[in-house]
Amino acid sequence: AAIAAMLAALKADCAYVPIDTDSPAERVQHVIRAAEPRVVLTSAAATGLLDGLAGIGVLTSSTLLGSLEEHLSSEHYKSTFARSDWEQFDARAPTARNGEHDVAHILFTSGSTGIPKGVVITHANVTSFVSWANAYFGMGRHDRWSGHPPLHFDLSTYDIYGTLASGAQLHLVPASLNLLPHKLAAFIRDSELTRWFSVPSILSYMVKFGAVGQDDFPTLEKLLWCGEVLPTPVLMELMQRLPHVAFTNLYGPTEATIASSYHTVLQPPTNEAEDIPIGRACDGEDLLILDEQQRAVPAGEIGDLYITGMGLSPGYWKDPHKTSEVFLESPRSQAGETRMYRTGDLASWDDTGLAHFHGRADFQIKHRGYRIELGEIEAALNTLDGVRECAVVGVATAGFEGTQICCAYAPASHNVQVRMLRVRLRDRLPSYMIPSRWTEMELLPKNANGKVDRKVVKEWFEDEERRVRRD
Ligand code: AMP
Repeated sequence: AAIAAMLAALKADCAYVPIDTDSPAERVQHVIRAAEPRVVLTSAAATGLLDGLAGIGVLTSSTLLGSLEEHLSSEHYKSTFARSDWEQFDARAPTARNGEHDVAHILFTSGSTGIPKGVVITHANVTSFVSWANAYFGMGRHDRWSGHPPLHFDLSTYDIYGTLASGAQLHLVPASLNLLPHKLAAFIRDSELTRWFSVPSILSYMVKFGAVGQDDFPTLEKLLWCGEVLPTPVLMELMQRLPHVAFTNLYGPTEATIASSYHTVLQPPTNEAEDIPIGRACDGEDLLILDEQQRAVPAGEIGDLYITGMGLSPGYWKDPHKTSEVFLESPRSQAGETRMYRTGDLASWDDTGLAHFHGRADFQIKHRGYRIELGEIEAALNTLDGVRECAVVGVATAGFEGTQICCAYAPASHNVQVRMLRVRLRDRLPSYMIPSRWTEMELLPKNANGKVDRKVVKEWFEDEERRVRRD
């Protein structure tokens, strides 16, 4: 129903904003206030969130509320129309049509100042990637494709439009299977999937729990991942267990639409320390690795990774300031290429012309596949009375969760407990953003400028991790 609603929005010459119904109303309100939707389409599953939003007073009297099922109502709201009244609607096709440079959807991602930012995606952004990917992955009517990421993640854009454009079947993976690796593996087998596409953490999880057997998933031909580093030991085990499958690493930020580069791994890595390249640019895109003066760096040197080409979003919704900070003029503008996006990623070229990823230059992390600005968590903590100051850092782990979220805080009074902070944060942040490790400090370490020194805080958590492992 949600996918049908997205198509309906496009057909009606509109753009849509998928909303994470697991996020608390306190956070979703920023999305609604920024997007100013004329219509909010919802289902019974989101009544709790709607109640919260209506309680805060975000839905204005001019917002139409549509329900994907029967009419919904609570003490705060009543849906204006529902799928059950569809016979009353005009059956004629609308005459207005979206053009290729019109907005198709806006995807909100974590923002470092505490307010999610909306990445505007046009029709041309999507069709460019879909046509390259459908040709490269040989998508056809006999394919059975996984729909694993939630619909507010940009990876799901390819699941939806890649399958619709090729006539392949889309098998939406129930989110409840994410904690049940053996059931998830059974889903892949029973649905006879030919293609799997997800973030790495779920693959690591299946491998860790021994859910993938030797020569398992006999119908599977291609396995793709995107969004963060797939640990090399996990890839080695998957390649050994699934010798009939081709493995591709896709790389790219939401701001450049789904993915911008790819690398199909032909030979299993020979040692666990080998990193897997993010590869070459997809058709219509290009990767630039530049130094601080925006000059191309030679092979082997690490620089800032920029993306140019067809996938580039026009920018952040109603935020020209943020847009101008990261969507810059390309140094190759004489060649007709005007814009480039600064990803915040560090990368290098190898001698064979493949790009390699070397982490972030800022405070954005990936945790269980979710893109998180640590600043958003700090901003939420700073709104709580019990916190005088805090620093949230990401600590890399070998586990399936990727980066662990760790918080050091100085309490404002004696009776502040971590349990209380966690509970209160849940009203402000989705559960995947709540720090899993905490430490109380009387004062946070400061650098020479008097600012909180996150490097020292991070080292503290890394040392503690080593101590715990030793004991
Ligand atoms: P998102 O906008 O959620 O797709 O997140 C984009 C960020 O995820 C990138 O800027 C990278 O930091 C990271 N990322 C995406 N794909 C990969 C990959 N294949 N390997 C390593 N990091 C990745």
